[in-house]
Amino acid sequence: MAVLNHMRNLGYGEVFIRHNAASHLNAIIAIHSSLLGPALGGCRLAVYPDDDAALHDALRLAEGMTYKAALAGLDHGGGKAVIIEPRGAFDRHALFSAFGDMVHQLGGRYYTAEDSGTTPEDMHVIRSVTPYVTGATIGDGGSGDPSPFTALGVRCGIQACIKFVLHQDSLTGLHICVQGVGSVGYHLCRELHAMGARLTVADTDANKTARVAQEFGATIVSVSDIAQIECDVFAPCAFGGIINDISIPQLRCRIIAGAANNQLAMEHHGDVLAARGITYAPDYAINAGGLINVAQELKGYREEIARSRTLKIFDTIWNILEEAKHSNIAPHRVAARIARNRLTSVK
Ligand code: NAD
Repeated sequence: MAVLNHMRNLGYGEVFIRHNAASHLNAIIAIHSSLLGPALGGCRLAVYPDDDAALHDALRLAEGMTYKAALAGLDHGGGKAVIIEPRGAFDRHALFSAFGDMVHQLGGRYYTAEDSGTTPEDMHVIRSVTPYVTGATIGDGGSGDPSPFTALGVRCGIQACIKFVLHQDSLTGLHICVQGVGSVGYHLCRELHAMGARLTVADTDANKTARVAQEFGATIVSVSDIAQIECDVFAPCAFGGIINDISIPQLRCRIIAGAANNQLAMEHHGDVLAARGITYAPDYAINAGGLINVAQELKGYREEIARSRTLKIFDTIWNILEEAKHSNIAPHRVAARIARNRLTSVK
């Protein structure tokens, strides 16, 4: 059975699947761990080549959420939801109501949130069906769009990398290439521009690159060139798997630090980066700002607390890089070790 095969390959698995014909809902919720608390993770709405690809995405992303929460010091486990985007027209309200009901049936074992393809308005609809949702609109008592917090954390992580590798505090004049200037990428460009960095960007959506070119003076290049530009930092903010056998030989950056989840196509690609002398900020360590923000919502939302916890991503990345250097282990392995240690400490 394909579902069990995926679980066996990844070494874990608790998966909930629902089809609802009336609302066109085809959804998967994967829970990786509840050791530290209820699973928390976004709901992705995306087109997938087939159901298997959606399942694999949910399972891999849920595992990353466990490590993300553990490293960020949150009392949450890891989970993720995937809704396969219906082909053709569909009623968005009905789709997210049906998904909210699915979340509700799990009785609080999984809290959902915004992710790629979903919005605070979608979370608002889910909230009308279940309390187990975060990231609803601010007027609705929610914490709103998590992307600015994710971008803030990535900016702090980039600063830690720059200090570690280049021994400098300032980003002024440094060249940073941002792949994907959607929700997080746009806010990251804003943060980096404010600190004096020189930006080069690429996105499949020309309106988005035009906006950052106009607002932040970014240079636009094609999506096929962005990973090959000589720069100080390459910041993947579009999709996973970007660090792979094909891209690694073409990279001409000193640091990789961006928001995208699952940047390493395979675990060993992190070792190959280290061998090439490229410093990699592990994705789930640097992109935790949005998760920190939505987790704060569950405790009674206070923006200043979410912000101060997000700023600590500088220390998280710094500590990972230091330990990686001293133990001569690639940063992604150090990050996984720290996260697993926290998980075993509560077993
Ligand atoms: P988004 O969909 O708003 O932005 C992604 C952007 O990438 C879009 O503008 C899209 O046009 C662009 N893109 C697609 N294919 C591309 C290509 N081949 N080359 C360049 N650009 C391309 O998503 P987002 O919320 O900004 O998230 C970006 C990444 O960060 C995702 O991997 C997501 O899982 C991860 N992430 C997001 C958050 C968050 O708070 N939104 C938190 C943690 C991690």
